[in-house]
Amino acid sequence: MTDISPPLTILARAKVNLYLHVAAPDAKNYHPLQSLVMFADVGDEVALRPKSVPQAPGLTCDGPFADGVPTDGTNLIVKAVRRFEMVTGVNIDRHDIHLTKNLPVASGLGGGSADAGAVLQLLRAHYAPDMTDEALEAIATTTGADGAMCLWSQSTLAEGYGERLTKLALPAVPAVLINPGIACSTPEVYGQYDRLGQFAQIEASTPFRSIINIDHLLHALSETRNDLEAPAVHLHPQIGDLLSRLSDEPETRMARLSGSGATCFALCDTLKDAHSLAARLSAQYPQTWVRACTLS
Ligand code: ATP
Repeated sequence: MTDISPPLTILARAKVNLYLHVAAPDAKNYHPLQSLVMFADVGDEVALRPKSVPQAPGLTCDGPFADGVPTDGTNLIVKAVRRFEMVTGVNIDRHDIHLTKNLPVASGLGGGSADAGAVLQLLRAHYAPDMTDEALEAIATTTGADGAMCLWSQSTLAEGYGERLTKLALPAVPAVLINPGIACSTPEVYGQYDRLGQFAQIEASTPFRSIINIDHLLHALSETRNDLEAPAVHLHPQIGDLLSRLSDEPETRMARLSGSGATCFALCDTLKDAHSLAARLSAQYPQTWVRACTLS
């Protein structure tokens, strides 16, 4: 007989902002933005571990970046589980949760939101299979601004304050992700953006709804920016050095910062190019987190 039980482990995929346009803060100090987001085939692993005695779930964490992750109520996984229990009235008592933290923390890759999205997918599958996508998304939204998009991990155009989401069909793009080991606090980078005072405009429409291949995507991206790059470089000049270095590499078609950083990415024509660039960078910076991946 075929085993059709739902999976117990999910990849919480890294989010990459291919561009991020940020306008001046409004009266409530929120920044209107527009961002094209894709997801890498690398990420954290979130697992449900069955247990025999019914009791409240514990969270354990290991992996290369486990040290930077809280395992108390501030962890976005714990927040998501509590919210799920509250909304459904179901007790999550048949499993503990285990996080393998492969992504650098506070790195612009949205790891915490991806973890929350992954655990919600697992909880729905095991505890509330009839829950609608809308209801699950409403829970994900309460875990943070990127909660909903990281729940689905699909190419998305985010607008408004990041809450207006349009899923897009885009070609898969080979890329290299590199994190220079600096934790970048998102509020600090936005604070620096405000202090620099060079506020950008957000165009109403973008050409990203009808992209057919990588050349087309790169052409459209050449008209875009990450408006948090300047403030992040101001706070951490090493990011600027890394971006110049990446731009000079023969395999790089475009190099940019993801989100508020400090992870930078290079887009490449082929996965082979991405792997050879990643191998060279890893050899030169052995302590640095470098991954070749595909964004989709
Ligand atoms: P974003 O791009 O959405 O700003 P990020 O990659 O910069 O995300 P995260 O790695 O998600 O940032 O972590 C931001 C903060 O959230 C960390 O400082 C950490 O203390 C807290 N946090 C809570 N839960 C998690 C989690 N599961 N994984 C990582 N960090 C978490």
